[in-house]
Amino acid sequence: MNDRELAFAADAIRDADSVVAMTGAGVSTASGIPDFRSEDGLWTEYDPSEFHISRFQADPEGFWAARIELVEELFGDGIEPNPAHDALARLEHTGSLDGLITQNVDGLHQRAGTEDPIELHGNGQRVVCQSCRHRSDADAAFDRARAGELPPTCERCGGVLKPDVVLFGEQLPEYALFRAHALAEGADVFIVAGSSLTVEPAATLPKTAADGGATLVVINLDTTPLSGRAEYDFRADVIDAIPRLVDEVVDS
Ligand SMILES: [Zn+2]
Repeated sequence: MNDRELAFAADAIRDADSVVAMTGAGVSTASGIPDFRSEDGLWTEYDPSEFHISRFQADPEGFWAARIELVEELFGDGIEPNPAHDALARLEHTGSLDGLITQNVDGLHQRAGTEDPIELHGNGQRVVCQSCRHRSDADAAFDRARAGELPPTCERCGGVLKPDVVLFGEQLPEYALFRAHALAEGADVFIVAGSSLTVEPAATLPKTAADGGATLVVINLDTTPLSGRAEYDFRADVIDAIPRLVDEVVDS
């Protein structure tokens, strides 16, 4: 990633009316969270059908037992935001980022200080009641489930709680999708960070933005299907590249 290109990308961000960023698994793996879809990813170890919506509906007890195991594996040692999360929050706070869309479910953007990220696949730090749709913090539900309450139930209405993430076989949340498309359509600069852009709707959003005239900035270790269309295509590690880019936008 050369300094000249970086400075040009930073100029584009500074000059834009609307800057939107979208983050994928690469931003989470830097915090030690395994990538679900990579070749040695989690689903070689776990059976995806265990986490299908039909399994949850048929056997919420068994689903929760498996889910607890998965969460221990994913977040057992505790997870923290990394410099990429911090830099994107900083970009927002300085007024240079108008929206953040994420494919990740770990809640680390919020913990880093991003106000209201659009979560395409939900957020595993929350649970949602299947009867009254009340959302609450996942920790308490997991504590009760570990203590033997399987499945954990809603404190308001007694309904079954589900992790507030999009399970296999489930539709993506409509409002999040709507907001993401609206942001992409109106973007002057669209930054993709740590996404291989192979999964929908993440694959389509930057295309929508580019079709509307946005400047595309792609930061990813590997090449992506949109690398050819990106004005700035940085083959770089997000925890190095995003802070550098943000410093350039904010400090120069
Ligand atoms: Zn409820």
